[in-house]
Amino acid sequence: MSDAATQPAESVAAARVVGAVKIYGSGETEVRALDNVDITFERGCFTAIMGPSGSGKSTLMHCMAALDDLTEGQAFIGDTDLSTLSDRELTRLRRDRLGFVFQAFNLVPTLTAIENITLPMDLARREPDREWVDSVIATMGLGDRLAHRPNELSGGQQQRVALSRALASKAEIIFADEPSGNLDSRSGTDVMRFMRQAVDDLGRTVVMVTHDVKAASYADRAVFLGDGSLRGEMLNPTAVEMLDYIKILQVGHFVRSTPGGATMDEVLEFMEDMDD
Ligand code: ADP
Ligand code: MG
Repeated sequence: MSDAATQPAESVAAARVVGAVKIYGSGETEVRALDNVDITFERGCFTAIMGPSGSGKSTLMHCMAALDDLTEGQAFIGDTDLSTLSDRELTRLRRDRLGFVFQAFNLVPTLTAIENITLPMDLARREPDREWVDSVIATMGLGDRLAHRPNELSGGQQQRVALSRALASKAEIIFADEPSGNLDSRSGTDVMRFMRQAVDDLGRTVVMVTHDVKAASYADRAVFLGDGSLRGEMLNPTAVEMLDYIKILQVGHFVRSTPGGATMDEVLEFMEDMDD
């Protein structure tokens, strides 16, 4: 039997985009935020999407997560082609299959931690799976914080509540956009450990946008965007390896953007300035 025939259905990637193009605006104000991106996100994998500000990280995440649509190309969640779904079906897919964590924690200030965690299911009038929610809360270390309101929690704890809310509905994939962007370094590290546990202990798939190599070093895989294109990727990335790689990408960009190409002296000077 061929491999394809023996593979279980779960071998379908968690998410992927094919030939993804996203253009904002038109005419003189046109911005090509994604320029023909192909990328696959495997199940049970923690991926960091890296790249400088404006490189298309959030756009890629939004188009994969059915928060925005592509101008060209296709985006899949599992084997579902998002372009075939109605608005109503997209809303249901987001609610039932995806979880979101943003830089701003987006918690409801008047609700307690546990009320925030189960709010999406309460709104959808769905009975939470108590056993699952309990294991999420235990994994996220929030057991003794459930009655607290957001203003009684630290930034790191608030983000753990937001992550628990994303996990509580058993979302297949957690999409996180700069989840440590609003946190001090220690709370940021803390949240990364819990993102890691969402994958290792709860079996979820995590796709996280970040421009922080320290945050990305918690991922299984880092992919690098530049000017809306995929520049490369790294498995089990360390912060040092990523910093070196980003320097190489910057040199490449410098050479390409210098009219007529850069001389060796200019490249060396550019590299010296980079180290300052
Ligand atoms: P990143 O998350 O890597 O900082 P974004 O995906 O937010 O980058 O943006 C990629 C490019 O698309 C940038 O040039 C940005 O200015 C542009 N862009 C993003 N969103 C919009 C929008 N809603 N309208 C117009 N341009 C946008
Ligand atoms: Mg962004």
